Amino acid sequence: MKKWGFQANQKLSTAADNIIEVVHSKIRNEIDEDDQRPIIPFGYGDPSFSPLFRTSQIAEDAVVEALRSAKFNSYSPPLGVPQARRGIAEYLSKDLPYKLSPDDVFVTSGATQAIEIILTVLARPGANILLPRPGYSVYEARAACSNLEVRHFDLLPEKGWEADLDAVEAIADENTVAMVIINPGNPCGNVCSYQHLEKVAKTARKLGIMVISDEVFGHLIFGSKPFVPMGVFGSTVPVLTLGSLSKRWLVPGWRLGWFVVNDPTAILKETKVFDSIKGCLHVFSDPTTFVQGAIPYILGKTNKDFYRNIISVLKQNSEVCYNKINEMPCITYPHKSEGSLYAMVKLMPSLLEDIDDDMDFCLKLAKEESVIVLPGTVTGMKNWLRIFFAIEPSYVEDGLERMKSFCHRHAKRH
Ligand SMILES: *Cc1c(COP(=O)(O)O)cnc(C)c1O
Repeated sequence: MKKWGFQANQKLSTAADNIIEVVHSKIRNEIDEDDQRPIIPFGYGDPSFSPLFRTSQIAEDAVVEALRSAKFNSYSPPLGVPQARRGIAEYLSKDLPYKLSPDDVFVTSGATQAIEIILTVLARPGANILLPRPGYSVYEARAACSNLEVRHFDLLPEKGWEADLDAVEAIADENTVAMVIINPGNPCGNVCSYQHLEKVAKTARKLGIMVISDEVFGHLIFGSKPFVPMGVFGSTVPVLTLGSLSKRWLVPGWRLGWFVVNDPTAILKETKVFDSIKGCLHVFSDPTTFVQGAIPYILGKTNKDFYRNIISVLKQNSEVCYNKINEMPCITYPHKSEGSLYAMVKLMPSLLEDIDDDMDFCLKLAKEESVIVLPGTVTGMKNWLRIFFAIEPSYVEDGLERMKSFCHRHAKRH
């Protein structure tokens, strides 16, 4: 008899193990339903759960108007609605030394779909991609779906989470297609300096690979460094920039993202990457049309006060995090967040009586204190913790106080 032919891509059976939602729900299940205190959601990166982090009236009105106009009820063009592509090109060009054309912009169903499309396009047989550690596990999971080999380079806490570019050179070979940077950083909350990004560009140029720059937290900064888009170095090396409404405009459920080809010297044109991107976009499903119709207003007309208020709450929450974490002997905070919505802190289980590792810490913390924190393992760093702080300021205080008493209760006695 003939052997069954339906073998699956084996990597897919475990691809989602490290996805944030999966680990998060496992921790969430530990919570004691009899605990009367509110659950503190430091684990899951969705700002829209808190009433303080509501998007602007302008964004809401723009979507309602686009919907009511009845101009956006059709299927989307595969590369995106022209107004949306133009709006995104104009918005991003403000920070660049050259002007993007709407033709450089592709609208996607969240930045997540941009990741899917880019990795699908780059996954030719034998290819490998360089990803940061710690990082954002959707990249690893998506690479597994496409049988794209992943190689990791470290981000260095003692250097403000800069990428270890010597490691990048050491692990790259002739089959390496790209390296990924996330700026401002998830999970590290770092912001890359102009000088560091310039070095990234030169390294990638030397290796002949492109840079994928995940800037979904673009402009969400509250430290001393300005936000510099990687596209500034587009003449040195081709850059694919990812963006989204999810984080800066606080509407992850609207599923609207994009990626942009920063390639002013047209290097990619010769490689046919462009053609493959377009082919892929014709195959994948398109983002909702009326949200695309609202894009020029959301990106172009959102009030400065809206951005300023969000940054001011984030800055305040980040300060509270820094101060409270420093009161916990079993946790260190090597590099204070300068942007994004996260703090990355290091756990020392050896100082605790009955905690094996970061996962054990998070499970017991949820059970005893109804506080949810993400284990660093999900980001590729065992015995670290990622704290999401785009939540009510009173919850930040409360949650960290509970974490402190948890650490105290479990501390080794001498
Ligand atoms: C949230 C996030 C994404 C996904 O964004 P969506 O637009 O919600 O799909 C991509 N990359 C990073 C680093 C993120 O934090």
